[in-house]
Amino acid sequence: MDSVFFKEKYIKTNGDVVYELACPCCGINKVTIDAVSKLDAMRLHYGRPIYLNSAYRCPKHNASPGVSSKPTSSHLKGAAFDIRVSNSVDRLLLVDAALKAGFRRIGPANTFLHVDCDPDKPECLYLYP
Ligand SMILES: [Zn+2]
Repeated sequence: MDSVFFKEKYIKTNGDVVYELACPCCGINKVTIDAVSKLDAMRLHYGRPIYLNSAYRCPKHNASPGVSSKPTSSHLKGAAFDIRVSNSVDRLLLVDAALKAGFRRIGPANTFLHVDCDPDKPECLYLYP
């Protein structure tokens, strides 16, 4: 399936940057429209601001020491977000909002929640080792 990419590097509300979607090392943005639509739906279900640790990553940034993610990461396809979360109450609310928004691949971690809509991967709730 060919991906359709979201053209803007940011999503703004009332002039304020809400989400930075581009890769932090090079400014390239290949987040898909499908992922952005689901993220926006998730924000509405959650009812509070959502903060992204990571959206699109270029291959170089994805492999860099600070990230060191797998070469199969859905962030490389612009189909994934890591959402900052620091407590179990918010984590549950975010998982609920993610499911309502249509994300069917979710990975809770201590400090963030990974959500993606990668069409090439199975729907699941996975745990970080
Ligand atoms: Zn980059």
